[in-house]
Amino acid sequence: MSYQAFNDSSLAFDTKQLHAGYNPSEHFRSKAVPIYQTAAFELGDFDRCGRLFAYEEDGHSYVRFSNPTNDVLEKRIAALEGGAAALAMSSGMSAISNTFLNLAQSGDEIAAVKTLYGGSTTLLNKVLPPYGIKANWVEDPSDPDAFRTAITENTKAVYIESLGNPGMNIIDIETVAAIAHENKIPLIVDNTFATPYLFRPFEFGADIVVHSATKYLSGHGTVISGLVVEKGGFDWFSGKFPQLEEFYREYTGKIEEENLIRTLFTRRLRIRYLTEFGGHLSPMSAFFIIQGLETLSLRMQRHAENARKVAVFLKAHPAVLDVAYPSLPESPYNALARKYFPLGSGAIMAVRLKGGLETAKRVIEKVRIFDYMVNVGDAKSMIVHPATSTHYGLPEEAMHKAGVYDDTLRLSVGIENAGDLINDLKQALEA
Ligand SMILES: *Cc1c(COP(=O)(O)O)cnc(C)c1O
Repeated sequence: MSYQAFNDSSLAFDTKQLHAGYNPSEHFRSKAVPIYQTAAFELGDFDRCGRLFAYEEDGHSYVRFSNPTNDVLEKRIAALEGGAAALAMSSGMSAISNTFLNLAQSGDEIAAVKTLYGGSTTLLNKVLPPYGIKANWVEDPSDPDAFRTAITENTKAVYIESLGNPGMNIIDIETVAAIAHENKIPLIVDNTFATPYLFRPFEFGADIVVHSATKYLSGHGTVISGLVVEKGGFDWFSGKFPQLEEFYREYTGKIEEENLIRTLFTRRLRIRYLTEFGGHLSPMSAFFIIQGLETLSLRMQRHAENARKVAVFLKAHPAVLDVAYPSLPESPYNALARKYFPLGSGAIMAVRLKGGLETAKRVIEKVRIFDYMVNVGDAKSMIVHPATSTHYGLPEEAMHKAGVYDDTLRLSVGIENAGDLINDLKQALEA
């Protein structure tokens, strides 16, 4: 037999999630991906050390730069997203912050929407500006002209999420990608809430995908981790990215030309930012994510099926004011959901209750299966009141723009029995 599933790009998603990027014959034929729990690797002969440090030879020296377990995870997520290369990092925030730093330097800007994950908003509002990198906020993400307005000659990327938090707004990604490309800048998509099973941003023009792998990719709420994936093929040589051109010149002749150009963003992210800022992902955590990825399609099918049933139940309940879930026919995002999310628009939803803050508080106190947590994307169901947690302290206008009111609850629907989840919400709403 000659096992080839590890590098056969013609295989279906469900097959790739189990096999892509791992060749057992390179690892004593261990069928599970081994955890290389070591801080460093023996260098071999004198000349090999030189080649490793010049990046002329693939291999591992010190685990802050790379290790074989993370290598499998990186290849696997690249295969699932349909990208050329990927990098594993210590958290979703590490993936996002280092991605911005790889693209923007002092004086540069990132055009971003206002419905971002809270950590990303704070990064762009408070952490990066003192370093000379600022955000230009897109006022209305459903208006293409608002993106054009937010892009100036100093803008180095457009940043959006595949599903907004917690209002679940969907952006017309294909149109926004075209606007970014007219301006010779990449579109970055945080694809955490969707996962590549439900949505693959590269197929609609995105250039870079970031993930909090803490959520659905790991799937079981056991690790904090992040991933960055590069599609490959973006033109970094338009004059807008001198730092990438300089990096290209430094490694020309060492790394094979076509490969260097195709994975330029990821290589610089690893060699400059992973290596020097040290946001390395432990191989033990990488193993947990690889384990989770093996069942990603099965879990996401069940997550989406349960979410749809819960959304339909809530929408019809007299105590509920509104449910933000794009796969519902009544959703203003339903047309975009049908285009971009034919398999279901994820499993997170925002629910507004008629009784205001008091009812929201009572539901949280009465649920018996849903856990009261700020996390999302666990196999187990969770509930939270965003206005007093994830979106705490935001000005009222910004909160409302994100779809957060006093009476809003965010649900992350798990893979339990849908009937049990509906009964749990029913008794809490009617208590
Ligand atoms: C959780 C999350 C992040 C941050 O990821 P961490 O792994 O917690 O650092 C970023 N974006 C989205 C959409 C998230 O849900």
